[in-house]
Amino acid sequence: MKNNLKDNSEFSSDINTTLVLKIIWEHSSISRSNIVNKTNITAATVSRIVKKLISYGFVKEVGYGESNGGRKPIMIELNPKAAIVIGIDIEIDEINGVLVDLKGNIIGRETVKNKEVEQGKILKKVKDIINQLMSVNNYKYKEKVIGIGIGMHGLVDYYKGISIYPPAFRWSNLPVAEIVHAEFKLPVILDNNDRALAQGEKWFGVAKNMQNFICLKVGAGIGSGIFTNGILYRGVSMSAGEIGHIVVDEDGPLCVCGNYGCLDSLATIPALIERTKKIIRQGAESKIYSMVNGRLDAINEDIIFEAAKKDDAIALQVLRDTGRYLGIAIANIINVLNPEAVIVEGKIIEAGEFVFQSLRETVKNKALSYPFKKVRIIPGVLGSDGVAIGASTLILERFLNFGRLKLAKQYLL
Ligand SMILES: [Zn+2]
Repeated sequence: MKNNLKDNSEFSSDINTTLVLKIIWEHSSISRSNIVNKTNITAATVSRIVKKLISYGFVKEVGYGESNGGRKPIMIELNPKAAIVIGIDIEIDEINGVLVDLKGNIIGRETVKNKEVEQGKILKKVKDIINQLMSVNNYKYKEKVIGIGIGMHGLVDYYKGISIYPPAFRWSNLPVAEIVHAEFKLPVILDNNDRALAQGEKWFGVAKNMQNFICLKVGAGIGSGIFTNGILYRGVSMSAGEIGHIVVDEDGPLCVCGNYGCLDSLATIPALIERTKKIIRQGAESKIYSMVNGRLDAINEDIIFEAAKKDDAIALQVLRDTGRYLGIAIANIINVLNPEAVIVEGKIIEAGEFVFQSLRETVKNKALSYPFKKVRIIPGVLGSDGVAIGASTLILERFLNFGRLKLAKQYLL
């Protein structure tokens, strides 16, 4: 049985094959006649393609379905482990990788902390993680890996696979996709981490059935991915979605971009921690002080969330303020884009209603009532693996839409 797509140009060059595979992927199980109805491909061709897909191990027959009066149809379903994808998330302080099957099920995971900023050292860590993921279950899936998707912070040229400028690292215009491709000889697609996360939520998360939404990640920085009519909006130079630099308080602190009071300077996790420290340093009473035994440097977001649960006034205030700042920015986005949902992802959602209550109140007060009536503001569901899962969908998208990934301009087979 052949199931290695890389060796199989006949399979992958056939657009009808890709279409049939996508239809089967979209259904838990489906009959041949139903595929004919959904694709307008002739019954004979569908039969031939299904036979081919079965011989390659991509689909299997799974018994009989309900009859529509005639013979009971044989049902077909995808074998999700016929092809495997690697998704990598390069964050400022951590590199996370997942091995996923065609349905987004995680079958391997590797994470390393990162304090490096030099390209060679970071790429070494990325390559190590990919090698570790390849070795999962005694290299059981290695030959089935069809590509590597990478999401990373900063400005990325998605079409060329270049990391143009990641603010936290000392490099510019680094051809990350080409470098990783040279090492593993597999298709590699690079995208910005926030855009990858939004795509992850669209494929396997809370945005599955949504066409118009924004997925906002609030962690060490703030960025987003914007979907309009089911398509990720990138902008003319691929920086669309950088909402961290919406000004939400003109008198606010200096931002890395040189402006004052950007969302990024007020509502990120580091900003939350800094504001908490400042208030306690000024003498405000807080349970946080004893929780860290007076060592203010030990304050982190988990301690602030914990203190909020203990009804600590300072923790409640800083989280409420964070929700308000986010709410101001989100209200502006809603007014401009009229989306069906704003999805909030990242570490901040662990604060739950301590942030979301003031966030929703602010949006209600500041957004126009007409778009506000239609929008839902909800947390994402992919959690800390979200960017890595999203990165894997960069490959899945090409595979299920274009078969051999041949329309890609990046380092693909
Ligand atoms: Zn800024």
